[in-house]
Amino acid sequence: APHVTLVPTPIGNLSDITLRAIEVLKGADAVACEDTRHSGALLHHLGIKKPLVRLDAHTIRDRAGGVLEKYPRLAYVSDAGTPGISDPGAELVEIVLDLGGTVEALPGPTAFVPALVLSGLKIARFTFEGFLPRSGRERRERLAALARREEASVVYESPHRLAETLADLAEACGGARRASVTRELSKLHEETRRGSLSELSALFEQGARGEIVVVVEGRSEPLHEEAVDFEAMARLLADEGR
Ligand code: SAM
Repeated sequence: APHVTLVPTPIGNLSDITLRAIEVLKGADAVACEDTRHSGALLHHLGIKKPLVRLDAHTIRDRAGGVLEKYPRLAYVSDAGTPGISDPGAELVEIVLDLGGTVEALPGPTAFVPALVLSGLKIARFTFEGFLPRSGRERRERLAALARREEASVVYESPHRLAETLADLAEACGGARRASVTRELSKLHEETRRGSLSELSALFEQGARGEIVVVVEGRSEPLHEEAVDFEAMARLLADEGR
């Protein structure tokens, strides 16, 4: 039966690779990854020579079985951070378990933990949102659920979508809700900005460079929107009557 080890890799600073990650990469039959050029450069930097196979979001369903047959002791790395956190790692775990194999996950770098603790917000309890749906009803519903939540929420975002997401968060949660924006963790231009959602929305109106994690504090006030929306209810009932 296959044995897969999920190996976290640096999210910026190459020194964040763990000793155990290096050991496991050296001991594996092969290393599977999202992008062979990107992960090939990391292995080269570590002085590790191994067969490198691509298992990304598009290929993992079809190819994982064959790869595991050929390389039963497989190490899996994603582009950055901990495999399974907003990347194809979680799907690989499902496939391996379905095949009767075993999975091991090494502790290591991931973006949301440092972003949470840097936020300065109440984070004893939190929900990991990862990437929000990009548009439409799904996005509106997810934003509404986030706004209602009493614990903090962690959102992953790309630089060109940051401005829109901060504006949408301010609208959903109210501009006064506190939040933080952390960019470029463990890299040269790392920064964390803290403030209300309307302040952060204004600050990043023109977007921002780099990789980004947004943390939004949970709500502390009762929600006024919880009052019954009679118009919406009337519309729903009218639709059902058709
Ligand atoms: N598996 C990764 C992890 O463990 O965090 C996440 C992979 S996901 C495809 C990429 C997203 O993670 C980025 O869009 C950004 O939101 C976040 N991220 C990754 N590296 C980061 C960094 N150095 N600083 C801030 N955010 C980062």
